[in-house]
Amino acid sequence: MIGSGPAGVYTADALTRQRRVPLRVDILDRLPTPYGLVRYGVAPDHLKIKGVARTLRRVLEHPDVRFVGGVGFGTDLTRADLARSHHAVVYATGAGVDRRMGVPGEDLPGSLAATDFVNWYCGHPDNEWDRFALDTEEVAVVGAGNVALDVVRILAKTADELRHTDIPQAALEVLAASRVRTVHLLARRGPLQAKFTAPELRDLLALPGADVVVRPEQVDIDPTTVGTDRAERPELREVSRAARTNLRLLREQAERPPEGRPRRVELHFWTRPEEILGQQGQGRVSGLRVERTRMDADGRLEGTGEHTVLDVGMVLRSVGYAGVPLEGVPFDSDGRTVPHDRGRVLDAEGRVVSGDYVAGWIKRGATGVIGTNKSDAAGTVRALLEDAPKLREAVPDPVPLERVLDERGLAHSDYEGWLRIDTAEAGHAAELGRGERVKLHGWDAYRKALEEN
Ligand code: NAP
Repeated sequence: MIGSGPAGVYTADALTRQRRVPLRVDILDRLPTPYGLVRYGVAPDHLKIKGVARTLRRVLEHPDVRFVGGVGFGTDLTRADLARSHHAVVYATGAGVDRRMGVPGEDLPGSLAATDFVNWYCGHPDNEWDRFALDTEEVAVVGAGNVALDVVRILAKTADELRHTDIPQAALEVLAASRVRTVHLLARRGPLQAKFTAPELRDLLALPGADVVVRPEQVDIDPTTVGTDRAERPELREVSRAARTNLRLLREQAERPPEGRPRRVELHFWTRPEEILGQQGQGRVSGLRVERTRMDADGRLEGTGEHTVLDVGMVLRSVGYAGVPLEGVPFDSDGRTVPHDRGRVLDAEGRVVSGDYVAGWIKRGATGVIGTNKSDAAGTVRALLEDAPKLREAVPDPVPLERVLDERGLAHSDYEGWLRIDTAEAGHAAELGRGERVKLHGWDAYRKALEEN
């Protein structure tokens, strides 16, 4: 297994739960810490979702599962290395990069990917710690997915509201000193097309320290016309139940007058970014020019020609994640996934690549919630088990992974190593008088924990 996020671990779980084919699973990860986006993607204040780590932990502690940390596929080990040490390889590497908006000014200082901000508040060790100074009063977050809502919520919370979470101390201190007062959320389509889900929307609307401003005219939609053929407006057709719930919550919010709370979140539907403006000379973000949008009769998004400028000093694009090609593995550069048939990797001619499988976001794209990976993994495992006799024939005598790692001179960590980091994070929380865990941040802190505890 390449990747120890939910997709990789659920796949290992499905493999080891069955009795038909006896097997053992190595779960490799570039990092010495397991759980992928459960650790480095779920927002620190989403404690219930983070609790999934307890289920994933049980899988890593299964006697037939081994966690091998600190080993990168493509950098440390190649496909050929794994082909001689394993009967099958499942790539569960997720979607490692952010998508771009494709507007001028996107590379200006102060224009950043929400995924970088997520990495920052989740304490990803590759983070650049000084990237988020939060020294501006207004910020725009572009996109209407759950990641955008996470980012907006963290920006709109006070440090006190986050102190009990596992957010790294350095990030908490920056948030405590944050000058951000207004966060604009930009959705290029309407409230019924937003990708975020009701629980996340409710979390945003429940922020005690921020007024969430929904413009009544943007949600002034008669719910009885939604999703019916009678609706003449294309944006009201083909609307999911989840979208109706969002609409209800947004309509209720639109009726609540702002209470003068210290922070403000403004939702802008039908608004798309056009250009990120830079300060003369210094080249830092000084504004975001946006255009109002609407749907044409065929349901396509079009600009209205109505432009405005938001006075923001920072723009966070939260317009989705994309998969990264894996060395020696076929890749669909349009869909940013690995082509497959029920989890079996396919080459450019559509033939099955024997022994190669995919699971999770690299298989289906960056959609769904953590639990979606369970059924996704089950599909891949079904295919793999069907192929088991052929796979055994193809590699009758696999070389132990340790030998391959030794031949390559690769230092790596194991599950015990992760437990040392885990213990260090609990100790760090106790030292700071903060909750159960505070994430260590940076590679040095990880190395120290791996060596010392
Ligand atoms: P997402 O759900 O795909 O949302 C991306 C958003 O970006 C959409 O609103 C999309 O609008 C917009 N967008 C795309 N390109 C754009 C552009 N060029 N300009 C302006 N807007 C653009 O992606 P995500 O928020 O990154 O989430 C990824 C997955 O993780 C989702 O399945 C999500 O539910 C999941 N997740 C779940 C949780 C949770 O359960 N708490 C938390 C975080 C993430 P259009 O619809 O118009 O394309």
